[in-house]
Amino acid sequence: MKAATFQGVGEVKVIDVPKPSIKNPDEALLKVTLGAICGSDLHAYHGRIPMSVGELLGHEFVGVVEEVGSAVRRFKPGDRVVVSFYTSCGHCALCRKGWFNECVNMATFGFGAVLGDLGGGQAEYVVVPLADSSMEHIPGGMSDEQAIFVGDILSTGFFAAERAEIKPGDVVAVIGAGPVGLMATMCAQLFGPSRVLVVDMVDSRLETAQELGGIPINASQMHPVESIARLSGGLGADSSIEAVGAAASVDTAIQCVRGGGTISMVGVPSEFTGDFPYYYMWEKSLTFRSGRCNVQKYMRPLLDLIAAGRLKPDAIISHRMKLDQAEEAYRMFDAREATKIVLTP
Ligand code: NAD
Ligand code: ZN
Repeated sequence: MKAATFQGVGEVKVIDVPKPSIKNPDEALLKVTLGAICGSDLHAYHGRIPMSVGELLGHEFVGVVEEVGSAVRRFKPGDRVVVSFYTSCGHCALCRKGWFNECVNMATFGFGAVLGDLGGGQAEYVVVPLADSSMEHIPGGMSDEQAIFVGDILSTGFFAAERAEIKPGDVVAVIGAGPVGLMATMCAQLFGPSRVLVVDMVDSRLETAQELGGIPINASQMHPVESIARLSGGLGADSSIEAVGAAASVDTAIQCVRGGGTISMVGVPSEFTGDFPYYYMWEKSLTFRSGRCNVQKYMRPLLDLIAAGRLKPDAIISHRMKLDQAEEAYRMFDAREATKIVLTP
C-alpha cells in the first residue's frame, strides 16, 4: 500500500510499504478514506519528535472498517469511523476516571516507535488497536470532511475552550490561528462569549478566524497584549487559549488575561523547560491549564453538534490533495501557504 513516510528532517515521501494486518483481538483494520496534515506532524517534520527514516506519518483520519479482531464489540466490517489520534484502553484506572488522554495503555498514530509504534493515517490502510475505545461511528449522511477533525483538532479546540471556563459575556483571546486555534475560535462560541479575539501573523488564517466569528489581531502589526487590553475595556481578556506551543505565544496567553482569569494551553510545548512566571501568576490569581486533548470524551457530543449544524469544522479546509502529493502538501502547510490540507488515498 502507499503511505506518507518520514525520510529525515523536512523530508516526506510517499512510498510502497506492506499493508498492515490485525495481530491482536482488540484491533480493527481500516481502509483510510481521508487523512489530514496536523500542526503536530510539523513537530516530527522539524525533528522535535525523533522519528526513524521510513516510519509512517499521520494521526488525523477517517475510514471504513475492513476487518475486526475477535474481541471488538462495537464495530463490524463496512462501518464508517473516525479515530482518535491516540488509542486508549477504556478500562485502566485513568480511563475509568474519564482521563482517556492519560490512559496507561496509550499509543499515538503516526509518530513511529517513540510514541508507541502504531501505523499512520496518511496511508491507504491502518490498524487501530483498542478499537472499541478509540473509534466512533460517523453518523449517516455526514461526510468524511465533516467528521475527520473530531479525532484531533476539533476535540482539541473544544477541550481548550471548555477548560478556559468561558462564561456568557466573557472576552476570550485565542493565541494562534492555525487549525487548532481556528477550532478553538469556533468552539469558544458555544459557551457564549461577547468577543473572541484571535492573534496570529498570517493574514489568510486571520481572515478565516474572522469568518468564524473571531476578531483578528495581527501580531506583526500591533502589540497583541495591548490590543487585547484595548478591546476588553482595559482589563485584559477573561480567559485565553494558547494554540501554538512556543514560549512567545505562552507569554502572550498569560500576559493578556485579567486578574483572576484562566489560561488554557493546548499547543504542544516546543521546549521541555523554560521560565514560568510563578510570581506573576500568583499575584494575578491566574489559573493555568494544559494538556493533550481528552479526545475520547468529546467525539460523540461533537459528532452530534456537527450533525445538528452547530459546528462546521470542514469550513477551515483550504486544500484538497491526493496522498501521492503529501511531499508538496507538507511543504505548503509548513510554509503556511495552506491553512488545512486533507489527503485522499
Ligand atoms: P500550526 O503550526 O499550523 O499553527 C500555529 C499557528 O500559530 C500559525 O498560524 C502561526 O502563525 C501562529 N503563531 C506562531 N507564533 C505565534 C505567536 N507568538 N503568537 C500568535 N500566533 C503565533 O499548528 P496547529 O495545527 O494549529 O496546531 C497548533 C498547536 O497545537 C501545535 O503545537 C500542535 O502540535 C498542537 N496540538 C495539540 C493538541 C493537543 O491535544 N493538545 C492536538 C492537536 C494539535
Ligand atoms: Zn494532531
